[in-house]
Amino acid sequence: MFQKVLIANRGEIALRILRACKELGIQTVAVHSTADADAMHVRLADESVCIGPPQSRDSYLNIHQIVAACEITGADAIHPGYGFLSENAKFSDILAAHNITFIGPSGDHIRVMGDKIEAKRTAKRLGIPVVPGSEGAISDETEARRVAAEIGYPVIIKASAGGGGRGMKVAHSEDDLLVALATAKSEASAAFGDDAVYIEKYLEKPRHIEVQIVGDGAGRAIHLGERDCSLQRRHQKVWEEATSPALNASERAKIGEICSKAVADLGYSGAGTIEFLYENGEFYFIEMNTRLQVEHPITEAITGIDLVHEQIRVASGGGLSVKQEDIRFQGHAIECRINAEDPRTFVPSPGTITHFHTPGGLGIRVDSGVYSGYKIPPYYDSLIGKLIVHGRNRVECMMRLRRALDEFVVDGINTTLPLFRDLVGNTDIANGDYDIHWLEKHLASSAG
Ligand code: ADP
Repeated sequence: MFQKVLIANRGEIALRILRACKELGIQTVAVHSTADADAMHVRLADESVCIGPPQSRDSYLNIHQIVAACEITGADAIHPGYGFLSENAKFSDILAAHNITFIGPSGDHIRVMGDKIEAKRTAKRLGIPVVPGSEGAISDETEARRVAAEIGYPVIIKASAGGGGRGMKVAHSEDDLLVALATAKSEASAAFGDDAVYIEKYLEKPRHIEVQIVGDGAGRAIHLGERDCSLQRRHQKVWEEATSPALNASERAKIGEICSKAVADLGYSGAGTIEFLYENGEFYFIEMNTRLQVEHPITEAITGIDLVHEQIRVASGGGLSVKQEDIRFQGHAIECRINAEDPRTFVPSPGTITHFHTPGGLGIRVDSGVYSGYKIPPYYDSLIGKLIVHGRNRVECMMRLRRALDEFVVDGINTTLPLFRDLVGNTDIANGDYDIHWLEKHLASSAG
């Protein structure tokens, strides 16, 4: 087991990782920018190192500073959290060259999954169902026309190097296709410096369902069921549930087994998420995230398994703590992402939190790095906390969530709490009846 872990992140996730390390008796090193000197993860860590000025590229993305902090403090491993360097294959390789353990998969696995065409090809080879579409990058207009005619309109053109929903264009007919192709290519080239694009069938009303896996790097892997993250705004997840209101136990077991077998065959090490669109009972792979995700706590709530413990165990060579047959899915969990944003316009709302009071009681978990008097710096993302609620079933979970949202107080800034108070009272949400377009439509109609 590691003696000392450096946490290359900030905010709630840095604190989340720090807690797991403390439980495992591991010393912690926090790194922080000058803007985060007062942050909770810095206060609670055993040691801390300032790694640079506020801008992420100079601090949380500064590989040299982070490796230096590791060497100065004698940390033997780095946990990257999510975002920042968590899916940076070069970072994983550099740490390996410095004999520092990266708590995550190998650089090669990150690389394969970071390239969407390569990821899709790999997924298909491993027996994961994929969206029908072109075999690889589209070379010219003739091929684009042929592939689109074969799979049938509408189609979506996606950038191989894509991320964050950029470089995607939908074409509803052959008339749209060539314009969409040219636009997607130029957007991809501008955003990612790579104009490779591919075509797939555009699904009209899918849900976003993702499967949590953990591999031990030695050919064994488990799945921890799915999360339904269909409630999104601009491809950003807002509200997540485990289990999905749309799946039954046998569908869960089936897709879970496909995913765990695939990552076992890959020799994958660490936690990962295989993301699907789900429509008419069919799953379609869209991408794999090779890291811990923001919404991981809902999986922890229904399985009782600490995913960060598993990541640390696997990275230190200790293997998985559970076997698939011992995993039970109990009850229902929902996560609300509370952002420092105007709940109507979603404009960020940095500033000082004058009063911060979190709900409590049975089935409530709040993961947050903020406190009363905390000044939110304007340089980073606007997530200030996650409310995770667990109940014996979805109805109980929703009742508890409504009560928890009533108790939550954040004064001094705007937050998205009012949005969740609205959603928890909505009939479609109560019925679990929504797809990936539901939230944007709902927001547009409430604005109008
Ligand atoms: P990114 O990495 O840029 O987020 P993804 O491949 O994960 O790209 O897709 C992001 C979102 O785009 C999906 O959650 C979904 O809303 C939409 N999308 C992607 N592929 C399709 C498709 N084939 N049909 C319909 N929507 C899609």
